[in-house]
Amino acid sequence: MKIIHTNRKTISIGLDKKGNVIIKIPNSLKQSELDEILKLYKPFVEKLSKKSNLIKDNLKHFKEGEEFFYLGKKYKLKIIKEQKEDLIFKNGFLLSENKIDKSKEIFKNWYCEQTYNLVMNKVNYFSKKFNLEFSHIKISSSKISWGSCNSKKEVRFSWRLSMLPEDIIEYVVVHELAHLKELNHSRKFWNLVELMLPSYRIHRKWLRENNYLFINLF
Ligand SMILES: [Zn+2]
Repeated sequence: MKIIHTNRKTISIGLDKKGNVIIKIPNSLKQSELDEILKLYKPFVEKLSKKSNLIKDNLKHFKEGEEFFYLGKKYKLKIIKEQKEDLIFKNGFLLSENKIDKSKEIFKNWYCEQTYNLVMNKVNYFSKKFNLEFSHIKISSSKISWGSCNSKKEVRFSWRLSMLPEDIIEYVVVHELAHLKELNHSRKFWNLVELMLPSYRIHRKWLRENNYLFINLF
C-alpha cells in the first residue's frame, strides 16, 4: 500500500497499473484523521489488496505449464524441442524451445493477429448493418483501454482483446463503433449501443468485474 499526498481536497483509493494499492490524500490531512480514514476503509482496502495480489500473479514468465487466455479460456504453455514454427496454437500454446528469449514478442504478435482478424470481422458486420463510417481500424499497444475512437473516426483496439471471451470482444467493438456517431457517453450513445447489441449491459458488467484478470500480463 502506498500513500500519496496531493493538493486535491478529496481522498481516492485505487490500484495503479502494476496492481499496487494507492491511497491519495490531501496535504492538509492530519495523522489522526488519516488513521480514522484507514480504519473506515479497511475492508475496502483489504478487498483491493486481494485483487492487487491477483494482478501481480498475472505476470507471465513464459514457463512450461503457465496458462494464457484466448477467447476467455485458459490454455497451457508447452515448450517444444525441435519445432519449426515459433508458436503453434493447438488446444494449448506450443512454443519452440530455441525462441524462448523472444517469447514476449512472439506471443504479442500472435495475439495481434488474432485480435485483428476477430475485430475486422465484427467491425465489417456492425458497420454495414448500422451504416457507420470509419477511417482506420488499428491495433494498439494500449495497456489501459480495450479500445478508443477519436473525432477523425480512427478506431483502435488493444492487441490483448483476443484474450477476452468473444461476446465481450463484440461489446468492445460495438462500444467503439457507436462512438463514430456519438463521441461521448451520453444517453444517446448508450441507446445506440443497445440498438446494436441489446445484451450489452451483461458484457459491460462482466468487463468491469473481470478487467483486473487481464492487467499486467506481459
Ligand atoms: Zn466509450
